[in-house]
Amino acid sequence: MSNNSTGSYAALSSGRSGTRDCYAGDGFTVSRVVVGPIDNNAYLVRCEPTGISLLVDAADEIDQLTQLVGDSSVAAIMTTHGHWDHHQAAEDASQRFGVPALLHPSDWDIAGKPFDALAAGPLSFGEVKATVVHTPGHTPGSVCVILDGVALTGDTLFPGGPGATRFDHSSFPTIIESIRSSLFTLPDETVVLPGHGDSTTIGQERDQLDTWIARGW
Ligand SMILES: [Zn+2]
Ligand SMILES: [Zn+2]
Repeated sequence: MSNNSTGSYAALSSGRSGTRDCYAGDGFTVSRVVVGPIDNNAYLVRCEPTGISLLVDAADEIDQLTQLVGDSSVAAIMTTHGHWDHHQAAEDASQRFGVPALLHPSDWDIAGKPFDALAAGPLSFGEVKATVVHTPGHTPGSVCVILDGVALTGDTLFPGGPGATRFDHSSFPTIIESIRSSLFTLPDETVVLPGHGDSTTIGQERDQLDTWIARGW
């Protein structure tokens, strides 16, 4: 786990070696594959007792995503936000696995293609309980998926800072408030799995909040 990057897209990991396990929880695992031209992390959260899974960010490279899914049964495809790099294979994956691709309606315009509505709130698949939290700022419809001990943060939180807010549809004060109220309320040891690059923990990032606010990004 590196904690020396400057956040946003700077925190790219070198690893492109197919599917890798990145978190083992109580009754579930999270594995990852890095896909697409700007090294997106696509994650599979798999309920181990039932083999039912959630695919988070069908970013690109449907064959790699299919390997990631393996023999699991996909319940849904979740998209962390509407930026193109996070959903290039969403339609292909939706067809291949026969399940809807979900995106928060506030990002449908940004995505520019049809999705099913993703609602914030509790989410369950197999025996796994998760929570979808709406964390606007990077985009208006950004969400994070919180599970027991791990948070999939999309482009909202990276090692070393919040996601980029340079877009017209972004807001730095809003992303800071989202991180403060929805992520930094989690236990220190919670593992953060972002939409690009390496993982971190809530405890490693929380102390830097004042630094980020002072620098303004
Ligand atoms: Zn983004
Ligand atoms: Zn991205």
